[in-house]
Amino acid sequence: MTSYKKNPYVICKSCQNELDKVKERENIENNNFNLLSNPRRVFQFNYPVKMDDGRIEVISGFRVQFNDALGPTKGGIRFHETVDLSEVTQLAFLMSLKTSLVRLPYGGAKGGVRINPKELSEGELERVTRGYMRELHKYIGVDVDIPAPDVNTNPKVMGWMLDEYEKLVGFKAPGIVTGKPLKLGGSKGRDVATSLGAFYIIEEKYKDVKDKSEIKVAIQGFGNAGSHLAKELQDLGFTIVAISDSSSGLYSREGLEVDHFIGYKQSRKHFSDYEEKNGIKKITNKELLELECDILIPAALGGEITSENANNIKAKTIVEVANGPITVEADQTLEDKGIEVIPDILANAGGVIVSYFEWVQNRQYLYWSEDEVKVELKDYILKAYKKVKYHVEDTNTTLRSASYSIAINRILEAETLRGN
Ligand code: NAD
Repeated sequence: MTSYKKNPYVICKSCQNELDKVKERENIENNNFNLLSNPRRVFQFNYPVKMDDGRIEVISGFRVQFNDALGPTKGGIRFHETVDLSEVTQLAFLMSLKTSLVRLPYGGAKGGVRINPKELSEGELERVTRGYMRELHKYIGVDVDIPAPDVNTNPKVMGWMLDEYEKLVGFKAPGIVTGKPLKLGGSKGRDVATSLGAFYIIEEKYKDVKDKSEIKVAIQGFGNAGSHLAKELQDLGFTIVAISDSSSGLYSREGLEVDHFIGYKQSRKHFSDYEEKNGIKKITNKELLELECDILIPAALGGEITSENANNIKAKTIVEVANGPITVEADQTLEDKGIEVIPDILANAGGVIVSYFEWVQNRQYLYWSEDEVKVELKDYILKAYKKVKYHVEDTNTTLRSASYSIAINRILEAETLRGN
């Protein structure tokens, strides 16, 4: 097997490992599997951007359209200084499984731009975004590949992407990106969709627990997904004992007042600057992951739970809101320890589900209320969750393996029907 570090066009070890397990369990032919180990199309470009001080910077951008058997490819674009083709390929593979698992008429893709957006002025960020779209626009389309936000990209960035695309092609195409501002055709509920999807799963899982305050939750990452999920869970009665940003974690045995910290982050302050008081203590991100709690929610970056710390994890359940937060070795350790993992392709699928609703609304020029969005989202995510649970009961496997099996089989059926 080719190492993905040597060859960025193949999927990473943990994805390949899951693929191999499904292949063995379900007795699937090698030929079919090769279709899933390699991306269909890969774009990499280096383009010039004029900075505020007159310098020209050459920026690297990536887009991987991994598999399109089930429909146009769909996936976010992240802005981060460590983005590379290996990472984007792996995330595009996971998107293909995610869209398949929750039964959307989509394939999977992912994009990235290697920059640190915190070091750029707003004007520079806009020029980076528009430049990326100029490079990519010939290879995407409303029925081809539809980008969306991811780490460090937001509705404003999507608005620039939409505008640049429409200028380049010369017609209106609101469905070319999702996660847009509402006034440009965004969907109600998109901003909270990822967290709501995870929330509906957690709500379902703990529906028989009468006193929800007994359930202690630790959340790594207090950005869009992590902060909204913390709020939803607290409103339902769960106790949020820890939260973190990239600078520090905060812990309180009695529970943290989520609204207060949402306000704190809105004032652009770091948790490392928070003054310890009222039983709230600063902890490191490492300590947060290893806390005694019922639910641990990694909602920051990938690769946070590794063979180094997996043995120290004490949570009963991990809900992967981030993409790929657990390495393959760690995953095995957690399984051996009996820790349940609700995998990323299920737990964070709410975002792509509501992106799909946004695209549907854009195509019809007919817009839904927030309640309609929430009702449909709940229906899609819980159908997928229940299907995965039944598969686990039938085959005595993990939630991750069951999710992979269901998703892969649906893609392979589509490939077979296409005669591939
Ligand atoms: P975000 O940029 O809004 O927030 C990320 C948060 O993680 C911030 O609080 C940041 O300070 C923190 N963080 C960054 N590095 C960290 C580190 N090393 N340790 C601890 N905290 C760190 O991003 P988001 O939109 O909330 O996404 C979070 C995760 O969820 C990502 O992995 C993303 O791929 C995944 N996800 C998001 C969506 C979505 O719709 N937002 C959808 C699917 C998956």
